[in-house]
Amino acid sequence: MSEPSQLEQALVRLDDAAQYLNIDPDVIEKLKFPRETTQARLMIRMDDGSRKSFLSWRCRYDDTRGPTKGGIRFHPNSNAEEVETLAFWMTFKCAVMNLPYGGGKGAVQVDPRKLSKAEIERLSRSYIQAFSRIIGPDRDIPAPDVYTNSMIMGWMADEYSQIVDRYEPAVITGKPIALGGSKGRDDATARGGYYLVRHLAGELGCDGSMKVAIQGFGNAGQHIARLLAGDGHKIVAVSDSEGGVYCEFGLNLSLLMEAKAAGKSVVSTVGQSGHEALSADALIGVECDLLVPAALEDMIHQGNAELVKAKVVLELANGPVTPEGDRILAKKNVVVLPDILANAGGVTVSYFEWVQNKQGYYWDVEEIHARLKTIMEREGRAIWNISQEKGITVRTAAYVHALSRLAEAIEAHGTQS
Ligand code: GLU
Repeated sequence: MSEPSQLEQALVRLDDAAQYLNIDPDVIEKLKFPRETTQARLMIRMDDGSRKSFLSWRCRYDDTRGPTKGGIRFHPNSNAEEVETLAFWMTFKCAVMNLPYGGGKGAVQVDPRKLSKAEIERLSRSYIQAFSRIIGPDRDIPAPDVYTNSMIMGWMADEYSQIVDRYEPAVITGKPIALGGSKGRDDATARGGYYLVRHLAGELGCDGSMKVAIQGFGNAGQHIARLLAGDGHKIVAVSDSEGGVYCEFGLNLSLLMEAKAAGKSVVSTVGQSGHEALSADALIGVECDLLVPAALEDMIHQGNAELVKAKVVLELANGPVTPEGDRILAKKNVVVLPDILANAGGVTVSYFEWVQNKQGYYWDVEEIHARLKTIMEREGRAIWNISQEKGITVRTAAYVHALSRLAEAIEAHGTQS
């Protein structure tokens, strides 16, 4: 038997949840396939005058609840199937948070670390040229994801406005503030997860001072480290694509942030401030209370889930635990706060950005934080209650919560869409 594909693995969660709801099988049928996935080959001029081409995609998975929404990732291993899986997760994430959006995702198969800033700008603009008929402020709204950031979103928004010949900031979120971005978008993914853990701390047994291990030290990883350390928790281990560092008394975060800002790996801090080297694999099994996967998919799986010592896993990455990994963690009574809830702060503040763009009226950061906190706590509590009432994992409860909203919308649309 061949290995299940990434999307097939993701759909396991849909089937798990469907058992707990009395829904029309047509709903499941609709959610099992992406609505449309477009592939384009982007051709750009490199700084040395040569031309290079890159494969790219945009998937609009389901738009029943509103325009499709989701980030664009630049990664050498991206492919159509990954994009569709990520777009499936976005569909459920937006439904979990009750945002008026469907799910989408995009990617370019590229290692942006090998490109100059000018080359990345040309690539970003060429992505929008290729997909300008697919995206739109009421159709499909991209945002940042792995290895993309506000600068790239700014170039993309600018390119779109040039193509349609009008100022159209609501076509993309995660922009620089000067171009219509929202305050509080930069740390929103981590902040949402932070509010969630704080709100459920009593239930999770996380109300004392925690030891925390973080896999991935990009946007989400760095911000969650800062937020948790600010509450007195100890960040004992972090890793990035080159390896990890460990210190049982708590790592020196300013040292780590400086290394990342200088384009270096966290590994470059080994030997300073008591930082010891740790392999990226060993991070999963570090002695800690909270494990935060904040990198890529499939990091905790059949082969290493048994090693997890944390009480709670906060999924700031998308899809970091495989279904097999989930089963092992559930047996060990490790609570997994699932991606479609735990990292939904990012898309929630994206929604706030889109609303502000449409109104042309901008909120202060306190307002953003307060609104994010309210939604995280409301949906987090509802999902926690479902998991307790039905005796199911928090992940299955999150899918049940989202699926009931999706089913209601699909049924309301009738049979012609
Ligand atoms: N890429 C982020 C995610 O996976 C944010 C998406 C958005 O803001 O639209 O949730």
